[in-house]
Amino acid sequence: MTRVTGLETEFGVVCAPVAGAGHGEDVDLPGVERVASLVFRHRPRGYRNDNLFLPNGGRLYLDIGAHPEYATAECVRVRDLVAQDQAGRSMLSQMAQDASASLARLGTPGRVHVLANNTDSAGHTYGCHESYSVPRSLDVEAVLPVLASFLATRPVLVGSGVALTGTPAAHGQGGEDQAWGLSPRAPFLGHLTSADTTGKRALVNTRDEPHADPTAWRRLHVTSADTLMAEPAAGLRSALTLLLLDALEAGEDLSDLVLEAPLRTLSLLGTSPWGAVEATTARGRRLDAVDVQEEFVSRLLTRLEREGVPPALEGADHLVTDLAPRIIVALRRQDASGIDTEVDWAVKRRLMEAHRLRHPQARGPVLEALRTRVDMAFHDLEPSTGLTGPLRSQGALSALCTDEERHRALDHAPATRAALRGRFVRACLERHADFAVSWDSVRLDSPPTTPVDLPDPLASSDERVDALVAKVMALSEEETTWIDPVGRDGLGVPG
Ligand code: ATP
Ligand code: MG
Ligand code: MG
Repeated sequence: MTRVTGLETEFGVVCAPVAGAGHGEDVDLPGVERVASLVFRHRPRGYRNDNLFLPNGGRLYLDIGAHPEYATAECVRVRDLVAQDQAGRSMLSQMAQDASASLARLGTPGRVHVLANNTDSAGHTYGCHESYSVPRSLDVEAVLPVLASFLATRPVLVGSGVALTGTPAAHGQGGEDQAWGLSPRAPFLGHLTSADTTGKRALVNTRDEPHADPTAWRRLHVTSADTLMAEPAAGLRSALTLLLLDALEAGEDLSDLVLEAPLRTLSLLGTSPWGAVEATTARGRRLDAVDVQEEFVSRLLTRLEREGVPPALEGADHLVTDLAPRIIVALRRQDASGIDTEVDWAVKRRLMEAHRLRHPQARGPVLEALRTRVDMAFHDLEPSTGLTGPLRSQGALSALCTDEERHRALDHAPATRAALRGRFVRACLERHADFAVSWDSVRLDSPPTTPVDLPDPLASSDERVDALVAKVMALSEEETTWIDPVGRDGLGVPG
């Protein structure tokens, strides 16, 4: 069955001294909470607060705390999802650059960095959540053990990789293998399910918020992923998960892959370089985490061959048919050279190895600091300090989407309910009309009208929304009340 999927990413922010500007490390720079709110002062025009539903159907917001979050619109196609995710990063990156410029105008020698990673230097973690619509008829409880096996071992394919600190190898004794794990998020996940995303971190969040007609839909809310930089890996993660849900919905029996202790396997992946960690099945078969993913991939490939490529995988099926098997080969051979432009852990590992070679004398805290800096730069969305741009232009970081797809996703929604939301939001911003939007409703507030409910996430056309958009476009200036109080300078100073 056709389903929608969305991706939420929480970002880290930090204001760091501008390298080479001649200021010491100990200049007085704004703390993370201030930096996050400064970034949001540079939000696109026309919004009243820090909760922005966007013309591309996505949502950019700042919760309490210091982590900007971007939630993509509901997508059917994996390619659209990746493009929408990239669009959100571009927007945040631009907001951060504007925030840096306003700091510079004030003479503050700091630059704002938005980090697409999962941990900060104080040991906090923040997440990357996936949402998948599933029919209410699917017995999620019953399929959870299979899902847990899949999610607990998935980092072998699509972990973001983590340079370990505090180990002898991280200080220069031994090679990269001993200083390297597959998933930075793994050590923080202590539960299979939880209704609380921050206190009790789990593989799956069980709060029942379908953002759709609750009699027809559920939303499977996966909260275990690493935040990724490589588009092919991000696409593969969603593609495999979507295929698995199709298989489970069709009643395919994968119960032989249920693990005895999935959380234990997952936690071992936090410090394992090649995924060869114990993953014994509930029936007593002694596998490792790579074996488990290989089994999942092989069964999903069989299914793909039998059923044909579903709409979700249009233009992305090569990730499952070609990339996934190559990752498994790389893990088994302990040689990532065949995938080290496509998969985060492999790209980052190569960067770390290159670093060791370039600084053969570095040891102890010096080496560790270098490694930490490479890690940060890999996840940094600031164009002048982040590695994405240089790696892409050297051919060292592969793409899934075209430039055009990425560019279009900045202000075009995918062909789902998001298209309705996007048109409404764009019209309101254009006419300076006050409005309120949620995932499953839109409402015009100036002048006040009753909300239009949108319970079907797949419905991309709706006469009621057409009429509402027409009404917004016909509003006179006297009827709209909204004036943007925030000047272009993010400190509230018009400039
Ligand atoms: P929290 O951030 O507290 O975890 P949340 O997950 O409910 O809350 P959002 O951050 O707003 O809220 O993200 C919702 C995500 O769900 C988006 O990525 C969106 O695309 C996706 N989504 C919206 N409607 C549906 C649906 N009907 N089925 C599946 N996913 C959906
Ligand atoms: Mg969220
Ligand atoms: Mg969420």
